[in-house]
Amino acid sequence: MHVAVQGVGDRTYERDDSDRCEGGRHRRPLREAIDEEEQRHDDDPPTYSEQRAEEACNQTYENEPREHRRIVRSVPHDDLVARLAEAPKSAAILLDVDGTLAPIVPRPEDARVPDEAREELHRLAARYGLVACISGRTGADARRLVGVESVRYVGTHGLELEPEAERWRDPLHDFSATVDWPVEDKGLSVSFHYRMAEDEDAALEYLEEIAERARGAGLVPRFGRKVLELRPPVHADKGTAVRHLLGEGGLRRVLYAGDDTTDLDAFGALDGLELAVRVAVSSDEAPAELVRRADVVVDSPAELLDLLCRL
Ligand SMILES: [Mg+2]
Repeated sequence: MHVAVQGVGDRTYERDDSDRCEGGRHRRPLREAIDEEEQRHDDDPPTYSEQRAEEACNQTYENEPREHRRIVRSVPHDDLVARLAEAPKSAAILLDVDGTLAPIVPRPEDARVPDEAREELHRLAARYGLVACISGRTGADARRLVGVESVRYVGTHGLELEPEAERWRDPLHDFSATVDWPVEDKGLSVSFHYRMAEDEDAALEYLEEIAERARGAGLVPRFGRKVLELRPPVHADKGTAVRHLLGEGGLRRVLYAGDDTTDLDAFGALDGLELAVRVAVSSDEAPAELVRRADVVVDSPAELLDLLCRL
């Protein structure tokens, strides 16, 4: 297995990765990129906490194709990741779930978080001031999927933190009952997936009509990765969730990782903090703006796990 590490716009590295996730050597891809940045910018060398749960990463995502095992470091600057790891109790690790911790699969109900990622989250939850998952799923479903009790879970893009969203539960369900499409009921939001549609263009065309009708019913439609989601007209997104969680803990040093449009709100919530590390999990479906606004870009949940192992 090879991993290519790329500093955007300048160079690409490749190396044998048969030793990935063993004995600390799994950290080399980003490490190599950082070394290169240090040479170019003559920064002070970063310090790394090397007390890692190395075994936690063994063989994770090993079936992923080579082209998906690439870390792209997008911004030449000081090593934000290492700085975050220097004071973990005053920092938060906030993570999307689907496409970020759990690889995207054709049916959302089949998604799973690898055991190695769970072990890593368990370690991080003991080490950091806060480790939380902010998901489009319900909090209960995210907890079931991730399966780490010491992690905090916030569901339906932060709606679960907004009391006024509750009165829209019945209207949402009444509306979704009029839609001729399989519905994923998340309580305070509903989703219509079209990843498995035989004719994707026709599916999108139909769901765009639904989105318009939902808007007329007072609901808020939002398209994500092969999905239309309908939500109450209550201001809540992953950004409000991030602010809520950070406010609770008085935390101003944060890493947030996500893969989709809804994660842009969370990226925005990190503006002005003492230390912010915005991580984009890139893919063919990832919005270009997510990559553009990221401090660090990884190409898969597997590469995100590599990065988490450095924290
Ligand atoms: Mg996601």
